[in-house]
Amino acid sequence: MKNTYQLSTLTLLLLLLSQISFAQRKAKPNPLKEAVVASVDQRFESLTDLSDQIWSFEEIAFQETQSAEALSDYAEQLGFKVTRGVAEIPTAFVAEYGSGKPIIGILGEFDALPGLSQNKVPYKSPLNEGNPGHGCGHNLFGVASLGAAAAIKDLIESGEIQGTVRFYGTPAEEKFFGKLWMVRAGLFDDVDVVMDWHPSAETKTAVQKGLALVDFQVEFYGQAAHASSDPWNGRSTGDALELYTTGINYYREHIKPTVRIHYHIQDAGKVVNVVPDYSRIWVRVRDSSREGLIPVWKRVEAMAEGAAIMANVDYKVSLISGVHEVLVNRTGSAALQKNLETLGPISYTEEEQDFAKKIQEATGKPQIGLVSKIEPMEETAEHSMGGSTDVGDVSWVVPTIRLSATTAPNGTPWHSWAVVASSGMSIGHKGMAYAAKALSMTMVDLFENPELVESVKSEFKEKKGDYVYKGFVPDGPPPINSNLQ
Ligand SMILES: [Zn+2]
Repeated sequence: MKNTYQLSTLTLLLLLLSQISFAQRKAKPNPLKEAVVASVDQRFESLTDLSDQIWSFEEIAFQETQSAEALSDYAEQLGFKVTRGVAEIPTAFVAEYGSGKPIIGILGEFDALPGLSQNKVPYKSPLNEGNPGHGCGHNLFGVASLGAAAAIKDLIESGEIQGTVRFYGTPAEEKFFGKLWMVRAGLFDDVDVVMDWHPSAETKTAVQKGLALVDFQVEFYGQAAHASSDPWNGRSTGDALELYTTGINYYREHIKPTVRIHYHIQDAGKVVNVVPDYSRIWVRVRDSSREGLIPVWKRVEAMAEGAAIMANVDYKVSLISGVHEVLVNRTGSAALQKNLETLGPISYTEEEQDFAKKIQEATGKPQIGLVSKIEPMEETAEHSMGGSTDVGDVSWVVPTIRLSATTAPNGTPWHSWAVVASSGMSIGHKGMAYAAKALSMTMVDLFENPELVESVKSEFKEKKGDYVYKGFVPDGPPPINSNLQ
């Protein structure tokens, strides 16, 4: 009995000691991480002002002139070297600070969505009826990333870390996918690791791939005629359009569950008494991987020819753009996860929870308020669902680490007035500051630990294998002033 007692006391003591040392290890502060958190806190007011400005500019893809300028000016005032109008896109820019290796990049989006203008209230109420609105929270996205880059800049400036921090101002994520042309221009070729985040209703490392996607346009050209007096002289592009979408919809029965096909009829004639001689449709095909996507894309493209033959019209298919699924980097994500655990969840006031619950009530969701608890890092699904992002293309040329931070109530319909409302007030601002902290803390890890950068890179190389990246972009300049707008 005595022996057992002694043993168990010893075990208990050892356990206690190990727990103390674990606690000390866990609690051991990293002064550089504390410094970046303090930087973000110090700039909180100016970052909030900047995100509110971009929120009120309400600028859509490739038209984000004021938003790009506000972010560029902010970076320039902090001492970043800013190159505006990169990759033949007037609203794309790069802001850099420091010199030499490593080069750590960070992505910032700032475009809004058409038709979603909304006041900062928890019920639907347009601010400027019919105008765009930040229904994806990109007003927070660009600013948080720039805030993180600025915090790193402070450490480079004081000589506490060496290397280069580079902020990428990446326009037109919601339409056309601006990053494709930035990748094509080679702007990521010398970067070691890229950080990225997205506004969300949860706080977690983003380790799902999303979907690969391609956008193309089909135009039909026929012969106009009077719809009643001489329809036999007409060759109808309206017929071609209907036959085409019928073909697509029959095909749906034979596609894999991971495939999505959407279309938007952009022009189907003007009046009822003219046989239309021009029609246009925007088609989008998605799948969980680029490899799965390509055969479906080619099949849907080929149907345009079938429809044209049946309606006796001519047709033209034009590639608009497309994105790869994300190449997830779990090594980098694990470093980010630790920083989320250190930061803990975002805390909210009663008013903020009340605002969130009102949004949930208005959108028919359970009124559970805001959720920001830090879950363990998820497994990466082989076939993830959801949306698509042009971050995918960046992730195939440079290892990319991604975060989701809570900026809107749980369950909120995304790309909706509710996200616009949350993105323009303190719920969004808190998520923005949180993202800036988590991202800059992870950048500290990358600057401090060359071994981490190496293991992030080796996972990237292994997963990429011998695939030679080729973006889904047509030759020629980006579609800044195209009729597709
Ligand atoms: Zn978005």
